[in-house]
Amino acid sequence: MRVLTLRPGRQSSLDRRHPWLFSGAVAHSAGDSSDGRVEVRDPGGALLASGLHGGSANLTARLWAFGPQPFDETLIRYRFQRALALRELVVPPDTTGYRLLHSEGDETPGLIADRYGDTDVLVFTAAVPAEPIVALYRDVFAPRHLVVGDGDPQTSRFREYGLEFTANLGDGQKTGFFLDQRENRRQVRQLARGRRVLNLFSYSGAFSVSALAGGAERAVDVDSSAAALATARQMRRDNGFPVDDADFVRADVFADLRERVAAGEQWDLVVCDPPAFAKKRADVDRAARGYKDVLRLSMSLVRPGGVLLACSCSGLVSVELFQKILYSAALDSGTAYQILARAGAGPDHPVSIYCPESEYLKAFFLVRAR
Ligand code: SAH
Repeated sequence: MRVLTLRPGRQSSLDRRHPWLFSGAVAHSAGDSSDGRVEVRDPGGALLASGLHGGSANLTARLWAFGPQPFDETLIRYRFQRALALRELVVPPDTTGYRLLHSEGDETPGLIADRYGDTDVLVFTAAVPAEPIVALYRDVFAPRHLVVGDGDPQTSRFREYGLEFTANLGDGQKTGFFLDQRENRRQVRQLARGRRVLNLFSYSGAFSVSALAGGAERAVDVDSSAAALATARQMRRDNGFPVDDADFVRADVFADLRERVAAGEQWDLVVCDPPAFAKKRADVDRAARGYKDVLRLSMSLVRPGGVLLACSCSGLVSVELFQKILYSAALDSGTAYQILARAGAGPDHPVSIYCPESEYLKAFFLVRAR
């Protein structure tokens, strides 16, 4: 275990039960870090908090327990059981793919687990072995198969609201699928009847399959990843939809959008769900310009009366900032939009009230007024 001693006067975030400890607060550290565990002490040596390694040079620790509460097997088991009980409450019918552990949101900071049918993927964001935690995981969640860490080449099939989806466990995109968009896919399914859908940054095309299930006339996936598009084709087949080459476009979305705008295309429903453009605070300005660029172009591709789903999964871009970006993108593109709904991740991605920064996904449903 590693023991971190804080600089004087740097414990206020711990008093507020914030689970993140940044390196700037630490005066010195001692001990062995091989078991992934961390203890935080004040300058006088009193125990303030304990948990796991943070996973980056800057984020030194992710804290599970505060004050004298021990970070032990009983606590971990309790948190796992509570996470499981929550899923029993919130996982919708005919759905076998969902998040079981959402790091800070389940008070299991540094642990992510997704269930894809009979296979669970457990990821330690701090890349520590933590064998005892894996054993507890098996015990509480009883997965038929368990993959620890990413990089496993296998795929796993699962269901979402009755649709057949596939997670590519090894491709480094999340744990192989974007479960966080489930409720927004459901909404797209509801809006899609008779519509022509353009799905930008499609990954494996789950928005398109949902739209087709809702009666969309056509759905086009655009992504730069050949592997993601190959899965997208397979997922359409698995759900009984025809596969037309023209509906899978491997391209850079920025370039593709410019061509579509130049050609005067108009779509009934556009989904724009880019990767996180801001990964650190210094990126936020550049990210805002990236979002504005892609949204300005997307907005002019929606016909009046049509719908745009605009998403951002950058935690550093607040909902207020994202709404401002939408507003200035609309101004610049000469379009007018109304906000139908502001949504986020589903309830299997709970948010810790101690750590509001962990709420990252923003999904705006907009309708083009003119
Ligand atoms: N909407 C998807 C998730 C999107 S993740 C879903 O619900 O499943 C972001 C996707 O953007 C990834 O598949 C990645 O391959 C793709 N991507 C990233 N940058 C891109 C670019 N410049 N042009 C096209 N695709 C890009």
